[in-house]
Amino acid sequence: MYKSKAFAATSPTSVLSGMEIPRRDSLPDDVQIKILFCGVCHSDLHTVRDEWHAMMPTIYPCVPGHEIVGRVTQVGSNVSKFKVGDIVGVGCMVDCDSKCPTCQEGFEQFSPDTTFTYNSPDKYETAPVTYGGYSDSIVVNQRAVLRVPAHLDLAAAAPLLCAGITTYSPLKRNHISVGKKVGIVGLGGLGHMGVKIARAMGAHVVVFTTSPSKIEDAIRLGAHEVILSNDANQLAAHAGSFDMILDTVSAAHDLNMYLDLLRRGGNMTLVGVPEHQTPINAFSLIYGNKTLSGSMIGGFAETQEMLDFCGQHSITADVEVIAIQQINEAYDRMLQSQVKYRFSIDMASLEAN
Ligand code: NAP
Ligand code: ZN
Repeated sequence: MYKSKAFAATSPTSVLSGMEIPRRDSLPDDVQIKILFCGVCHSDLHTVRDEWHAMMPTIYPCVPGHEIVGRVTQVGSNVSKFKVGDIVGVGCMVDCDSKCPTCQEGFEQFSPDTTFTYNSPDKYETAPVTYGGYSDSIVVNQRAVLRVPAHLDLAAAAPLLCAGITTYSPLKRNHISVGKKVGIVGLGGLGHMGVKIARAMGAHVVVFTTSPSKIEDAIRLGAHEVILSNDANQLAAHAGSFDMILDTVSAAHDLNMYLDLLRRGGNMTLVGVPEHQTPINAFSLIYGNKTLSGSMIGGFAETQEMLDFCGQHSITADVEVIAIQQINEAYDRMLQSQVKYRFSIDMASLEAN
């Protein structure tokens, strides 16, 4: 066991502050990584503030962070795919059993034996739960280690590990390609990745935003059209026209008005996980044989496929690089929808702590 520097919350109402945490010494299948950058996902904030208590209560101290890019510093004796010095990524999972049918089919995120990057029971008992990427170092099973295309900027590539895969996976599942019309609801971390990826897949992309200040950016990021979600006339003009709508919003909001915009047989996929529930009007789904689905990150192979896709298309997040000491202020800005469009923490800043 060794000590790693980290930033942690100690209760749902505490700010995050510096703390030393234990990390296990590398086992034969482990890769030890010096963390260079870690993206700031809204799920970090939901977890730190215990907003998902009913589904997954937060155990404190909580060290969030699951958009990790770093350099390999040690490999176990069974590791042949990675060597010291390699630049790698780790997303929302750090281990899985790999033998169950769910893992075999590439859906590790749904295996009961998968260990998530933070707030997940630590099967090695280094600590009660796993500690995530707001830290200078991490040790993960080699199955969870991904290759980051070498030419991508590392601070901007980190958010691909969650925001990238969470939007890529449902767009791919819905066969988004040239000729499809896709709506992206919410232009935050996930939303802006959804815009870039859907555009690269060839779709006609429409952004729905509550923020007039993001209209120009949405076009720059790749949207063909932008709609202010409180403008009833603009919404009505698009009624019944979308093949797919990807909803990335982090707070409760009206879903029915978006279902009404789907064409016959269209799909709306929810990836945002608001703290509070939202009512669905059955008529909005029934009229037009529409489907409403959810999607949760992606398996390891699909995450690598997404990284390779982003490498080919030179897609990264638009990031504002921050020091870890700015994290509490960053959370406040995220709650006000004022992130353009992902914070990425430069972990070198932890050395000052
Ligand atoms: P984010 O950067 O904070 O973006 C959320 C966006 O939602 C905001 O920028 C804002 O966009 C919009 N929004 C916020 N409050 C709203 C409200 N009250 N009404 C309407 N729109 C509102 O968050 P994120 O990191 O992209 O994460 C988004 C959600 O996805 C979170 O709930 C997160 O936990 C979840 N998530 C899910 C998965 C998964 O596997 N399913 C993975 C990662 C994250 P505008 O300013 O454009 O309106
Ligand atoms: Zn995330």
